[in-house]
Amino acid sequence: MVFEVIPLGVGSAIPTRTRHLAGTLVRREGRSVLFDCGEGSQLQLVRGGLTRGALDAICITHLHGDHLYGLPGLVTTLALLERTDPLTIVGPEGIRDVMRAMPGLKNDWLPFDVAYRELAEGFEHQVVFEDDHVTVEARPIDHRVFCAGFRYQEKTRPGSIDGDAARAAGVSEGWQFEALKRRETVTLDDGTEVTPDGLVGPERPGGAFAYVLDTVPCEGGRQLAAGADLVLHEATFTDEHAERAAEVGHSTARQAAEVARDAGAERLLLTHFSARYSDPAPLVAEAREVFPNTDAAEELARYEVRR
Ligand SMILES: [Zn+2]
Ligand SMILES: [Zn+2]
Repeated sequence: MVFEVIPLGVGSAIPTRTRHLAGTLVRREGRSVLFDCGEGSQLQLVRGGLTRGALDAICITHLHGDHLYGLPGLVTTLALLERTDPLTIVGPEGIRDVMRAMPGLKNDWLPFDVAYRELAEGFEHQVVFEDDHVTVEARPIDHRVFCAGFRYQEKTRPGSIDGDAARAAGVSEGWQFEALKRRETVTLDDGTEVTPDGLVGPERPGGAFAYVLDTVPCEGGRQLAAGADLVLHEATFTDEHAERAAEVGHSTARQAAEVARDAGAERLLLTHFSARYSDPAPLVAEAREVFPNTDAAEELARYEVRR
């Protein structure tokens, strides 16, 4: 089981010559989910050769422009490409109105259905997208406007079966194998009962990715990141500007590292860098003092999550 996390933009608030605005694509077996859609996100998708495959859902954290203003453009492009598959758009209450206020989008001319999943202020935890293989859950995080973080989680798969041993026990391939994998007891034609014990290995947990921006360090972020293989956490400022970070509802790199450490995460990527840092090295250095397995997210790099 493997999926890829591909940052499209690692800047905050305003783009720079080297940084785009927030957006991160997660791809798994040709299907993808986009987290945030700052202005320019669709250009980054094109530049990265990431437009093939099915985009199932777009999850917007909050209604600040640097996370949102690429959405109408991307949806328009999907329409011009004559997409017909339904699209899920997740975001704070009001996101549907934002989209409907767009002159080009207010009529029902889209050739596909959009299912809006709006998160209401005060919500605690919600599964916002699910297919056969993954779930995406949302939790509130703590920014200066209502904001949600997300966790992309592969579903647990059944343990693998010892085929030779199962056949020797008289179990047939097909539905009997499948029943054993579900840890059910199989009754053979002669009445013998075969249990999965010793024939089926332990369940195989899937990988998890946490998307935590924009926020001050908070409990919601820690819960999203709990035991995650990869955490993308905002790190707008260095320690020197910790007071400013708190004032404007952002985190320092060290605080992001503390969240990853406290959550028992595997790996941390920092993102959402203030334009004042032309090089993210000082942010990474501060974070590594707390959580060594930290890097600065790079635009269009492909970070693999494998379990
Ligand atoms: Zn932002
Ligand atoms: Zn913001």
